[in-house]
Amino acid sequence: MSFVKRVSSAVKASYWVIGLMVATVVVLAAPTAAQASPLPIMHWGWNQSSTWWSGSIQVSQGYGCTYVPHEPYPPSWKGSCPSSAPRFHSGIDIGMGCNTTIVTPVPVVVVAIGGITATGARYSGGIDGGAGSGFGPYYPTLRLPDGHDVILGHVNKTLATRGQTVAAGQPIAVSGTQGNSSGCHLHFEVRAGGGGLFSDVDPTPFLTLANTPPPPPSHPIVNQAHGLCLDAAAQTVWNDGGIVQLWSCVGASQHNQQWYSVGNEIRNLMDGKCLDADWGGDGSYGGKVQMWSCNNGPNQQWVLNGSGQYVNQAHGLCLDADWGGDGTNGGKVQLWGCNSGPNQKWVPPSGPTSYTYHVVAPGGSLNERSAPSTSATYEGTLPNGATINIVCQTSGSSLNGSSIWDRLTNGYYVSDYYTSTPNFATWSPPIPHC
Ligand SMILES: [Zn+2]
Repeated sequence: MSFVKRVSSAVKASYWVIGLMVATVVVLAAPTAAQASPLPIMHWGWNQSSTWWSGSIQVSQGYGCTYVPHEPYPPSWKGSCPSSAPRFHSGIDIGMGCNTTIVTPVPVVVVAIGGITATGARYSGGIDGGAGSGFGPYYPTLRLPDGHDVILGHVNKTLATRGQTVAAGQPIAVSGTQGNSSGCHLHFEVRAGGGGLFSDVDPTPFLTLANTPPPPPSHPIVNQAHGLCLDAAAQTVWNDGGIVQLWSCVGASQHNQQWYSVGNEIRNLMDGKCLDADWGGDGSYGGKVQMWSCNNGPNQQWVLNGSGQYVNQAHGLCLDADWGGDGTNGGKVQLWGCNSGPNQKWVPPSGPTSYTYHVVAPGGSLNERSAPSTSATYEGTLPNGATINIVCQTSGSSLNGSSIWDRLTNGYYVSDYYTSTPNFATWSPPIPHC
C-alpha cells in the first residue's frame, strides 16, 4: 500500500528504545481499580482553589504511589505500591510560584520550624530536622485544631515564630524551593499530631480543593490505524520537550490522554501545554512532535482537514503515527508528508461522541448486557437491523471468535460480532477503546 513507509532499522531501533523507556511510566495510567494496592495512584488536578491560597493553582503531583525519583518507598505496613509506581509521595504538590503567600484557614500553633521546636528540640524524632532536610530549613509544622500536623514543605520563609499561635486568615508562610526540590512549589503534607515520616494521611480534605475554573471540555485523540490514543508521556508531561507517543486508551480520568482546542492549538489537559512540531526538525519527514509551552508559533498550529488529518502550519506536514511501530504502546508520533494512510487520521477533539452502526443478526436478535460478557446481566434485546450508537469498544468474553464488545450510549454492552462495524475480531477505529 502506498502509505506504508520504509523505516530504516536504525530508526526503528532508536524508537523502540524510547518505547521501552517510557513503558514503565505510562503503565501508571492504568485505572486504579486494576491495582490490588490499597494505596492511591497519584492523581492530577486542573487549576484548584483552596482555603490555603488565593486564586487557582494546579496540583502538580497528587498523594500516593508514584514513579517520581527521590520519593521514598512506603514501609510494608502502609501497603504496597505497584512496580510501575513503586515510590510514595506523602503530600500534595501545588505548582505555586516562588514567594506566593500561604494563608492558614484555621487557627494553628507553630510547633516547629525546620523540624526544631521552641525549646530547640528536634520535632517528631528529628526525621525532617535541620538545614539538610528534604523540606528545607524554613518549613513550618502546624498543629491544627483537630490535632493533625500540617507541613508546608520547601517554603522560603515562615511568617511566625516557634510556639506562636496564628489566627485563621493570617499569612503563615511564603512558597519556595528549599531543600530537595526541583523548582518552586508547595509540598502540603498532613500527619498525625507529633507523627514522623509515614504517619501521613491524604491531605485532600484539609486543602478543600475545588476546580476553579472547571477544566475545559476535552477528548481523546485516537489514531485510526490501530485505535491507540495520542498520549503525553506522564514521565515528561511537565517539561518542554516532553514525549508524545501512542498508548492504549485509558479513559477520561487520565488527563495526559485528554486534549482540548484553543484556536488551532491542541492542548493537553494535564499540563495545558501545546502539541508542538519541533522547530529544529519539523521541516523533514520524521520530524519530532513534542509537548511545549504554548507560544502562538505556527509550529503549534494544527488545522484539521476534511480527511481527518492534522496539518501543521509551519511546514504543511501531517501528524503521523509511525506505521512501523504505531501498533504498540510507546509508538512514535512524528511529522510526515500528508498521504492517504489511516495512520495520519485522528478522531478530532470535536469528533462524535458515539458512532452509528446496525445490528447484523439475520433471523435473530442481539442481547444487551450489563457488562462485556455473555454471562453478565441481560438488559434487553435489539432486533436485526436496529440502529446502535457505540461509545467505545472493550474486550470481554469470546463469542464466535470475537472478544470485542461495544458499549452503547445507554451504557449496555453488545457483542461486536453481531454489528456492522468494519471488524468483528479486532478493534474498529475510529471507535475509541473504553
Ligand atoms: Zn511533594
